[in-house]
Amino acid sequence: MSTIRFAALQETLKRSPKKIVEKEKRSSLFGKNVFHKHAMQQYLTRSAYESVMNAIEKGTKIDRKIADQVAVSMKDWAMSKGATHYTHWFQPLTGATAEKHDAFFESINGSLAMEKFDGEQLVQQEPDASSFPNGGIRNTFEARGYTAWDPTSPAFVYETTLCIPTIFVSYTGEALDNKTPLLRALQAIDTNATAICKYFDKNASKVNATLGWEQEYFLIDEALANSRPDIMLTGRTLLGHTPAKGQQLDDHYFGSIPTRAMSFMQDLEQESMLLGIPVKTRHNEVAPNQFELAPIFEEANLAVDHNSLLMDIMGRIAKRHQFKVLFHEKPFSGINGSGKHNNWSLSTSDGTNLLSPGKTPMKNLQFLTFFVNTIKAVYKYEELLRASIASASNDHRLGANEAPPAIISVFIGSQLSEVLDELENVTKGKLSPQEKTDLKLNIIGKIPEILLDNTDRNRTSPFAFTGNKFEFRAVGSNTNSAIPMTVLNTIVAKQLKEFKLEVDELIDKKSLKKDEAIFNILREYIKDSKKIRFEGDGYGISWEKEAKKRGLSNNKTTPEALKVKISKQVFDLFEEMDVMNRIELEARFEIDVEEYTKRLQIESRVLGDIARNHVVPTAINYQNTLLENTKNLKEIFGEEYKKIAKEQIELIMTISNHITEINALTLKMIDERKKANQLEGLKSAEAYCNKVKPFFDEIRYHCDKLETMVDDNIWPLTKYRELLFTR
Ligand code: ADP
Ligand code: MG
Repeated sequence: MSTIRFAALQETLKRSPKKIVEKEKRSSLFGKNVFHKHAMQQYLTRSAYESVMNAIEKGTKIDRKIADQVAVSMKDWAMSKGATHYTHWFQPLTGATAEKHDAFFESINGSLAMEKFDGEQLVQQEPDASSFPNGGIRNTFEARGYTAWDPTSPAFVYETTLCIPTIFVSYTGEALDNKTPLLRALQAIDTNATAICKYFDKNASKVNATLGWEQEYFLIDEALANSRPDIMLTGRTLLGHTPAKGQQLDDHYFGSIPTRAMSFMQDLEQESMLLGIPVKTRHNEVAPNQFELAPIFEEANLAVDHNSLLMDIMGRIAKRHQFKVLFHEKPFSGINGSGKHNNWSLSTSDGTNLLSPGKTPMKNLQFLTFFVNTIKAVYKYEELLRASIASASNDHRLGANEAPPAIISVFIGSQLSEVLDELENVTKGKLSPQEKTDLKLNIIGKIPEILLDNTDRNRTSPFAFTGNKFEFRAVGSNTNSAIPMTVLNTIVAKQLKEFKLEVDELIDKKSLKKDEAIFNILREYIKDSKKIRFEGDGYGISWEKEAKKRGLSNNKTTPEALKVKISKQVFDLFEEMDVMNRIELEARFEIDVEEYTKRLQIESRVLGDIARNHVVPTAINYQNTLLENTKNLKEIFGEEYKKIAKEQIELIMTISNHITEINALTLKMIDERKKANQLEGLKSAEAYCNKVKPFFDEIRYHCDKLETMVDDNIWPLTKYRELLFTR
């Protein structure tokens, strides 16, 4: 009997859901462990409070003395929450979060001791970061990087540690993390969107990007997950035969949440509340043991931090419930994978959603301006947007007929399409009073009603307008949202900048009125960006053909998709918008490529190991049983055995064939891997993609066949039905 698998199954039988008591209302838990405005008001002196608020709202510097005051108060507050340690919390380019805990504790003269935390420790820290990926930045330029306090994201206490959100930069100022470019992109969108808002409201002063993410994930019993080396080491199953029952009955999606998962969610939600993450929605997803969680949207900076923080605590809380969370985009073949929808919009400081039409004609024109400019930006930079979500794991999902294709397109619904079609006919130059009235009342004037009963939904679109926001649906479940959000906000900022230049030129040189100029430029943008708009079925093969005709990119693999990141167009864009310089972009490209190569290398090694050291020996064992049986039959029945043991003999042969294939394919794969390892950078990634990866499915095919033949009692790997249906 296969010990690990059956021991794990035994273990799961003993599980019972943890009882989660909700002692307090969610609303009173909310933000309790966050050093937010109210806590600061309580703990800081008035001048320190004002200084921090200025830093948050206007980006002003906090001077050293004030930083000392803030640090002491923060420490007192954190200790009142049970904190003993502090850490700078940051998001390195690995995509995860990082922290290094230091105790507040300090000894004085060896005999006395006290808790200390000063401004210096709050503001700056040098993590021993030599092992974080930096794409050569630190080697070439500076030996070290440091983390710096980001007051726009509030500090929080998790378990016994005060966590201070920080950015991570090199001494020469290059960003070594995902947060710094995001903050710069948010600055760019603020500046350029505010300038546009001023056309409609002279007093406009600030625009924030908003993000509401929806996080999908799988929950697998811990013992079962640990029994599979592939899940342990790669986050996904590299083999496993499809179970008799998958998701075809849709019974999980519509069903009630299984009790153990429910306890996990309650526990998680309470922790989230304490940390100020406004989680709101939970439900089952399409695949068995797949779930989704979504918060109320927030300013993008905070929403990104909250998503990263949540992913981190999910892993820890899952452990309390003997679960393993899988964020991999495709942990199981044959059933749905996981994504992370990034709902994005722009909002003014008074909370007006710029992608929501208003009550007056001018507000509707403002809506239209942001709407059309976003579409144009996505059109111009579609390939970059695709690159922003490229990873080895997301490659399994994009274009796999359950997630958007690798082609970026924008869905807006038939009624808004009609509006844009009509706007293409706006007269060039000056508009007659009649036309203006008609536009404002009958064309853009009807947008609010359209959106009110907008039932148009297209689940196959990677970038869909959903009433008052765009939903970027192609983002991978494992992706750090900072990356696609940096790109999206930068390209829209750049587009708005261009728009303003063009509108101003019409006003100054052609003496058009402001609204006439806006209509004129929007008309051209609508025509220019038509190719990105697609209302049909994004999963169909016909769309691939059509997209090709339209000249849209269709980069199905990460190595293909990443190339654009080091193109002139992209260097120019990010440099112009002050988001990333060439060094930072090249570094990220290098890291992405290396990450891809390493992931595939690990998968290939793990698969080779499982195939040859787990599957083949098991198959041989079973074959021996069959041979023994056949031999015995022959001994007793003589030549008649051929008839009696017909099945056994056939099975022996089939098993032999599969074993031969597995061995041959694995050797070939190892050979290709060796060759790929000799190459460097993108060349190596391409070799892994095109020469090594194709063996994965081939080897898997034979292993999965063997799974259906070999005695269940000795099969070593926990089966799909066990992983997916154990609750
Ligand atoms: P679904 O996409 O599942 O049908 P909804 O359309 O209700 O769900 O909303 C999905 C997500 O959109 C929620 O997480 C919500 O926080 C987010 N959202 C709603 N409005 C905005 C906005 N203005 N900006 C950013 N995100 C938003
Ligand atoms: Mg959604």
